[in-house]
Amino acid sequence: MSTRAQQYDATVRDRQQVTPHLVRLTLDVPGFTSTGIADEWVGLVVPGQFQSRYYTVRSFEAGVMVLDVVVHDVGLVTEWASGRSGAVVGQQVVLTEAKGSFLPPDDAAWLLLVGDLTALPAMARIATEHGGRLPVRIHAEVPADSRIEGYFPDGVEVSWLPLDGESRLAEVVEGIDWPEGEGYFWMAGESAQMRAIRKHLMRERKLPSTHYDVMGYWRSVAKRQPRAVDPGPIWRAGKAAGKSDEEIWADYDAAQAGAEQ
Ligand SMILES: Cc1cc2nc3c(=O)[nH]c(=O)nc-3n(C[C@H](O)[C@H](O)[C@H](O)COP(=O)(O)OP(=O)(O)OC[C@H]3O[C@@H](n4cnc5c(N)ncnc54)[C@H](O)[C@@H]3O)c2cc1C
Repeated sequence: MSTRAQQYDATVRDRQQVTPHLVRLTLDVPGFTSTGIADEWVGLVVPGQFQSRYYTVRSFEAGVMVLDVVVHDVGLVTEWASGRSGAVVGQQVVLTEAKGSFLPPDDAAWLLLVGDLTALPAMARIATEHGGRLPVRIHAEVPADSRIEGYFPDGVEVSWLPLDGESRLAEVVEGIDWPEGEGYFWMAGESAQMRAIRKHLMRERKLPSTHYDVMGYWRSVAKRQPRAVDPGPIWRAGKAAGKSDEEIWADYDAAQAGAEQ
């Protein structure tokens, strides 16, 4: 049996500059299989590269996939998608198989979604696919020129948070008004902010891990390059000390934060 992950050849059919920071790519992807999970993502390998970068499947229908790609100052996919190195339409790219992690419990009475520009596609798809059944509240932190009218479906409560310099999402979530009752919290953005939030959810809000999903979508490397922290010894020591999974993740977060100082 082959253990190689499934890959798909795709052709760029269209490229649109939605805002100065966001490019929409429409791809023909014959044979692609969606997981059906609302925050599913694929790895994208652009021409002339071997490394992939992850992008959320904004939509997939009848062999046509839409990806919304944020362009930064520099970056491997940024360089290509921004069109600085040549025309994009008509080019062949490779996609890896889709994976997803949005898994609200059956008894969730609401969805609270928080994220930066890179999380907009996932928040929009989650709101589109689950918004008819559950009330959805979104907090989106984006630069002033990236508030996109009509990006989220009608009926969703959206707060656009200004982004001026570094992300303040962790602070925002610490001060948020939580809806009543049991729900599901989903969040994605810069990794250091996500670590802070995971801690807050575990220690302050004491949310069971089945009721939230917090993902570091990208890592700011403007500061010193962080040292890799091996989770193995932390996991074994935590288990030996009888700690819960949440407590062990908190130890791992603390070790990583220490490595970045
Ligand atoms: C599951 C998942 C889903 C994702 N979905 C999307 C999506 O739908 N759309 C999307 O645009 N991104 C998404 N991302 C984030 C995207 O994969 C990263 O931002 C990626 O690093 C961008 O690749 P790049 O080649 O342009 O830049 P890289 O070559 O990876 O990085 C170059 C430089 O840009 C900086 N950088 C990278 N990302 C950002 C950022 N967001 N803001 C500011 N600086 C940055 C890096 O720190 C580095 O200094 C997702 C990530 C994950 C893990």
